[in-house]
Amino acid sequence: MTDLRTHADEIHEQFSDKLDVTVDDVEERLETLVEEYKVPVDEARRSVTSTYLDEAGMERDELSSGGGNEHVQISSVDAPEEWVDLTAKVVELWDADSDAVAQVGLLGDETGTIKFTKWSKSDLPALEEGAVYDLRNVVTDEYQGRFSVKLNRTTVIEEVDEDIEVGDDDVTVEGALVDIQKGSGLIKRCPEEDCTRVLQNGRCNEHGEVEGEFDLRIKAVLDDGEEVHEVLFNREATEEFTDITLEEAKEMAMDALDTTVVADKMRKETLGRYYRVSGPTFRRYLLADDVEELDGAVDAEAMLIKARSI
Ligand SMILES: [Zn+2]
Repeated sequence: MTDLRTHADEIHEQFSDKLDVTVDDVEERLETLVEEYKVPVDEARRSVTSTYLDEAGMERDELSSGGGNEHVQISSVDAPEEWVDLTAKVVELWDADSDAVAQVGLLGDETGTIKFTKWSKSDLPALEEGAVYDLRNVVTDEYQGRFSVKLNRTTVIEEVDEDIEVGDDDVTVEGALVDIQKGSGLIKRCPEEDCTRVLQNGRCNEHGEVEGEFDLRIKAVLDDGEEVHEVLFNREATEEFTDITLEEAKEMAMDALDTTVVADKMRKETLGRYYRVSGPTFRRYLLADDVEELDGAVDAEAMLIKARSI
């Protein structure tokens, strides 16, 4: 199918029950504008659509499919449960860890990247790594501060013949780790669906007393010399950063009959050291994706020289 044919198909679909036009009619109109008058495809599409709207005596906002959602850029996704359209490249495909998931991976556009999940039951065509798609009718989601999009059975997937230079919306901070805050280390989260609140004394603010599920996280403060940054490590990042797995943390807590030993050990091994942390931001937090320890000795020396020179 040529590009124009695809556009013609979509326009035709919007008017097929209102007007007596064929896909060929629509394509011919588009072709005239694009090929003879060198009108950009977008504009040609709008113009042809307007013509049919007039003929059908309809307003633009009466168009059912395609016109309902906002076409968004990835970095502007900032709320869950919104229906949006986006054009994105499949940056990576990951292994699905459940039969319910057909495909999972990372989508990217000029403004950044976002995780996507495609359900098995939605019966959609397979996405290929490196290809660019127009994705209409996807739903946004959020989990622990990270946004994602879900492709569902109403999603329309269309490969686009263009490339996208995928942008990076990550922030990088270098500084001394000056605090690991309360609520770090081995924590318990509420097990209720879609509730991931951290329990305080076995209680969820929303659901009351519940049997919590263990998790690891760190809320750290990095001081870059000018300002402080709050950095959030999820379980994966915490395990990699501290070299303590969730299982090991549980054992440590069981041996000590106290969960706070985990955060204490983490504090002991990281406080005062220098790190370079990068990742996306969420509200006031930097979400640690990539953490590298910097040579603290060199920095300490440099600071000493600086101190002497004052
Ligand atoms: Zn809860």
